[in-house]
Amino acid sequence: MSYRGATFAALLDRARALTEDNALASVHAWKRDNPGCLAVGYMPVYAPRPLFEALGCLPVAIFGGGDALDIIRGDSYFQSYICHIPRSTVELGLGGQLDVLDGMVFPSICDVIRNLGGMWKMLFPQKYSSYLDLPQNFDPAVGGKFYAHELGRIARELAARGARPLEPEALRAAIVRENERRAVLDEVDKLRRAEPWRLRASEAYLVVRAGAAMPASEHTDFLRAVLAAARSRETRIVDNVRVVLTGSFCEQPPLDLIVALEKAGCDIVEDDFQLGLRMIDGPIDGADGDPLLALANAFLVRGRDTASRYIDKGEKGAALVARVRACEADGVLFGAASFCDPALLDEPMLEAALDAAKIPHTSFKFAENAGQFQVIREQAGAFSDAVKLWGASP
Ligand code: SF4
Repeated sequence: MSYRGATFAALLDRARALTEDNALASVHAWKRDNPGCLAVGYMPVYAPRPLFEALGCLPVAIFGGGDALDIIRGDSYFQSYICHIPRSTVELGLGGQLDVLDGMVFPSICDVIRNLGGMWKMLFPQKYSSYLDLPQNFDPAVGGKFYAHELGRIARELAARGARPLEPEALRAAIVRENERRAVLDEVDKLRRAEPWRLRASEAYLVVRAGAAMPASEHTDFLRAVLAAARSRETRIVDNVRVVLTGSFCEQPPLDLIVALEKAGCDIVEDDFQLGLRMIDGPIDGADGDPLLALANAFLVRGRDTASRYIDKGEKGAALVARVRACEADGVLFGAASFCDPALLDEPMLEAALDAAKIPHTSFKFAENAGQFQVIREQAGAFSDAVKLWGASP
């Protein structure tokens, strides 16, 4: 599909349609255009998409059902005091919306995803299902080797189900395509930081999320068209405070919540929404040597510091403070999904680092299907006013 020359509004409409498409119509279309090829879903936060593309598969990031799905059966599989995304994912699976996927991969993020992976095997025994263990040891000779072995296992298992056998050249080519996408994502972030009114956080959210089920090269073309249209669109400068939003790396907030934060006077110039597409800082160096090891080591060496990735010798909060400084933000919003253990357990340590650096912050919790944002909007409004007036949290 060609996006060149499309208007900003048309591109945003396309992104919104893809984001709201719980039935995965675009994945059905891709499979019709690529007969015999597999579509493989994966849960947040991060899965190595180039590996799937090298196998001729379409990687599909699954973010639950959002706010448009009624949960009827999904709730009965989980206790009440956990986050929402596993319930809506089970609901989608039981409702048949994920039937187009030939398999699902469950990266090790937390106990919830681990348990979901086990349940998936029992609920859908005919489908491919795999838990992807991520390394906790950051020595490439140990953790890198382990992770490359895990990736090789998944490649062999998918090949046994009809994917192409893994060839180093195909993986190198897929890494090049992913690096191109990554470079354009950097441009998107730069534009947001320099002129947040030209590409609002809610708009950036949609155009990045549009790539959840696109091959990397198509998403790159799409984002290039978005950048061209955003740079030339008529827009109005607004006098908001600049904030970094953190904690939303897995379950996603409703889009209307992001819009409510903007209306409350916050320009979100940096975030960890759908972090997986931006998990690796900079390009993956896959030109020489074993590309599987290159993919593994990129995660070890240049993976973003986040609650979902074990931090070995680093100091909790240091990366967040550095990001706030780098994007010249005035403060931080913690926005975590309710009952999200990784985000909420990290929060006190991150707050201590921000306090030490004298960076104002405030926090709220959400669920992907929340419909009322007035309280959060008022809280964010009070925060932005206080930062503007006094440079501090209320
Ligand atoms: S929202 Fe948090 S607790 Fe829930 S599955 Fe994701 S990382 Fe785990």
